[in-house]
Amino acid sequence: MIRIPPQRGGWLEVICGPMFSGKSEEMIRRLRRAEIAGQRVAIFKPMLDDRYAAIDVVSHAGVRMRAVPISCVRELLWRAHGAEVVGIDEIQFFEPSVVTAALELAEGGARVIAAGLDQDFRRLPFGPMPELLSHAEFVDKLQAVCHRCGGPATTTQRLVDGRPAPYSGETVVVGAAEQYEARCRSCHEHGAGAAVAAA
Ligand code: ADP
Ligand code: MG
Ligand code: ZN
Repeated sequence: MIRIPPQRGGWLEVICGPMFSGKSEEMIRRLRRAEIAGQRVAIFKPMLDDRYAAIDVVSHAGVRMRAVPISCVRELLWRAHGAEVVGIDEIQFFEPSVVTAALELAEGGARVIAAGLDQDFRRLPFGPMPELLSHAEFVDKLQAVCHRCGGPATTTQRLVDGRPAPYSGETVVVGAAEQYEARCRSCHEHGAGAAVAAA
């Protein structure tokens, strides 16, 4: 497969997949190369993601790069002004207007690299991801290693006290005492209430 980025103007790349699939790692890898090539690079992440160092994008494997935590999409637009390559990590957490913002940056000539979870813990499309995926020139869907069977994992399992989280839980829970695992389709377990919600 050959990928040819546009000769003129910007474009949008989306890196998606479950937790632990290496989205942040892959984004950092692409941004590092752009930096080495002498391009002006800027990296952003939503303010709520304070799992690790507040100003770094850090992958689970410990690779890190400096990122600017931002609290809204408007802030993203003015801070990204002038950057040739714009990385946005954990983009699923942003409000729907992040789609327009990403397109505006791409149309303004920037290479936009967005990384995010394509599905929430219920396996439903996560926030702005469906739209971002449909607008992107390039899409990569990464897989993790299933914590249960070792196969290719495409879903994120939320666990509360070691058991599947209830289906009715909030999609985003910051700083909660919960655990996440990468799981394949057959190892993913729906929590209580899933059958009712699907009916
Ligand atoms: P993401 O941003 O998609 O959550 P990261 O880039 O932060 O992923 O982390 C990917 C790294 O996480 C892998 O290189 C590996 O070292 C580590 N890791 C931990 N658990 C798993 C797993 N179940 N499957 C794959 N990698 C894992
Ligand atoms: Mg990540
Ligand atoms: Zn499995």
